[in-house]
Amino acid sequence: GMITIKSAREIETMARAGHIVFETLALMRTVVRPGITTEDLDREAEAFIRSHVGATPSFKGLYDFPKTLCTSIDEEIVHGIPSTRRVLREGSIVSVDVGACVDGLHADSATTIPVGAIAPDVQRLLDVTERSLHAGIAAALAGNHVGDIGHAVQRVAETAEFGVVRELVGHGIGTRFHEEPQIPNFGAPRRGPQLKPGMTLAIEPMITMGNPATRTLKDNWTVVTQDGSLSAHFEHTIVVTATGPRILTN
Ligand code: MG
Ligand code: MG
Repeated sequence: GMITIKSAREIETMARAGHIVFETLALMRTVVRPGITTEDLDREAEAFIRSHVGATPSFKGLYDFPKTLCTSIDEEIVHGIPSTRRVLREGSIVSVDVGACVDGLHADSATTIPVGAIAPDVQRLLDVTERSLHAGIAAALAGNHVGDIGHAVQRVAETAEFGVVRELVGHGIGTRFHEEPQIPNFGAPRRGPQLKPGMTLAIEPMITMGNPATRTLKDNWTVVTQDGSLSAHFEHTIVVTATGPRILTN
């Protein structure tokens, strides 16, 4: 497939969308607490995104997904659907994934948020997953390859003896939410497409405490670990530049 190179103007538009996404996740960190529902999070996130003139939630209607956020609790890896019946409990973790679109260009980011106080081993899962994301971003250098990103993520996660989800991957992003290339969170250095300045990528490790094998629930969306182990998800949209990666979702 073809990997598009974005113009400077397109990149600045994506950075505007990315800033809204960043602020949305910052808001979610202040809103998450025991007793709140994932529907509450979704309502606040959608209102916040739409409060910016010209900004719309990327997920709503994408492949017929019904909501602004994906909210995935504990053993749910990704694509959980916000619901009034899903109440957050003390000690849980909730992965919040959100996209925003400005002037036809998208940005995509995710973070896993503790609900109240969480156990130290769960905090370690979150810390390692976020660290693996930043290792992947650091490998997104012009002249490197997609495999360098996956290799960097995998090394951090597996050194910590966590699992790397294989069935779900990062992606190019721009005028379409999912573009080429696919970006696995595992791989070998120097393999896959070569990275060039102007490529915009969503890098998104999904890391599990146990076995990373997945299954999809009967709602046809929510992806969970087969063994019920906890899963974390951190994501940024970045642009490859001649002088290194730039995070657009900050
Ligand atoms: Mg995402
Ligand atoms: Mg993504």
